[in-house]
Amino acid sequence: MTAPAVRLPSVDRLLSSPEFLALVPLHGRVQLTQALRALLDELRPTALAGALTADDLAPDRLAQRVDQALQAQAAPRLRTVFNLTGTVLHTNLGRALLPDTAVAAVVQALTAPANLEFDLATGGRGDRDDLVNGLLCELTGAEAATVVNNNAAAVLLTLNALAQDAEVIVSRGELVEIGGAFRIPDIMARAGARLVEVGTTNRTHARDYDAAITERTALLMKVHCSNYAITGFTKSVPQDEVAAIAHARGLPLAVDLGSGTLVDLSQWGLPREPTVRETVAQGADVVTFSGDKLLGGPQAGLIVGRKDLIERIKKNPLKRALRVGKLTLAALEPVLRLYLAPDLLPERLTTLRLLTRPQEQMRAQALALCQTLQQALGERYTVTAEGLFSQIGSGALPVDTLPSYGLALRPAAGQRPGRALAALEGALRGLPRPVIGRIASDTLWLDLRCLEAADQPAFIAQLHGPAGLAERLAQG
Ligand SMILES: *Cc1c(COP(=O)(O)O)cnc(C)c1O
Repeated sequence: MTAPAVRLPSVDRLLSSPEFLALVPLHGRVQLTQALRALLDELRPTALAGALTADDLAPDRLAQRVDQALQAQAAPRLRTVFNLTGTVLHTNLGRALLPDTAVAAVVQALTAPANLEFDLATGGRGDRDDLVNGLLCELTGAEAATVVNNNAAAVLLTLNALAQDAEVIVSRGELVEIGGAFRIPDIMARAGARLVEVGTTNRTHARDYDAAITERTALLMKVHCSNYAITGFTKSVPQDEVAAIAHARGLPLAVDLGSGTLVDLSQWGLPREPTVRETVAQGADVVTFSGDKLLGGPQAGLIVGRKDLIERIKKNPLKRALRVGKLTLAALEPVLRLYLAPDLLPERLTTLRLLTRPQEQMRAQALALCQTLQQALGERYTVTAEGLFSQIGSGALPVDTLPSYGLALRPAAGQRPGRALAALEGALRGLPRPVIGRIASDTLWLDLRCLEAADQPAFIAQLHGPAGLAERLAQG
């Protein structure tokens, strides 16, 4: 038995109903009309088949469905997540988190005009680099500085400005690939420079550099082996020696530090990294490093060094293509300023605060969360608080790890662990604020290093309730 076909109401009549008129201020008339047409198209076959009642097509029902569809469409694609991967500077999750002072400066720069390239002293045109040059020179001991979009851009620009159509000497052991297809040989080719490899993968000697220098050489370069370590029978030439070799032949040395830090991190019990100041002091003529790795600021590529070389870099037409916007500079200035009070850094600089969290604090947190999570997960999984190791991330100190604490989630006996873990990982990722953990050794690990006290209530709140974890697992 088939019910009689129901006629669809007209778009015009629906749009002039009070229910739809109430939605105009929320979505605008254009989107509302489009979404309503789409909904009616979707309903037409069922209506014609007699499977809908007049009630289903009443203005209030249709308005509600259109509103929901438009709200879903308007949900941002860039979502806030919980980074419980244990990698503090996680490139795929946006690297460094900015301190409040930087956030406030960005909001200000976004909503009011500012002297980005305007000299307030003379009323003439200014240089955007001047906003942070002074700070960068003071913090690194360099003569001059400039800022571009990221460190990959900094390396590209430096090579093009200083070594186009000429040779650059690099040790074979430093021809690195950084995540996301940044390879030194490729960047070198794109910059129009010719790579001259010296030494072998594991051993490079001072004489290798010296022997490779010709009248075609423009630059010697050292690259920080960010994301790997060569161990065993190895030799690399210390930077001051490479600098001496370069300078004896009247050539500059460029150093790509990658994560370049501005302070000695070992004072807070973190592994030692060469600082930018030391790199400059040991004879680097140009140093490139990232703004959003260990420095803890916005995405940027910082170039510091000799005044004449920085001038050449700034005059290169690529600089205009790779320059930073006002948001970056607005965020960078207050972050750099924090380094003027190094003793207060672990409290003020978010990245350092996370990296230096005491393990005992994270252990207490894990113990407190363990039962709540167990309740949400039910009997299919066991939750235990366990010690684990975090990573700094972003290629900083790849072999060093930080003692941390977190939650170990394991499938209960009788399930296929791979499948059960994938379901759990998916459920956590599907939460309103997705929780991103890490699977290893048949366990889903939630490292609590990056779950600060202020975020904990939000984490707990979404474990239960209608859109919560328990519900999702039950459906899954
Ligand atoms: C990370 C890194 C880069 C690239 O820096 P981005 O800021 O990500 O563009 C280049 N060189 C080294 C050695 C790095 O570690």
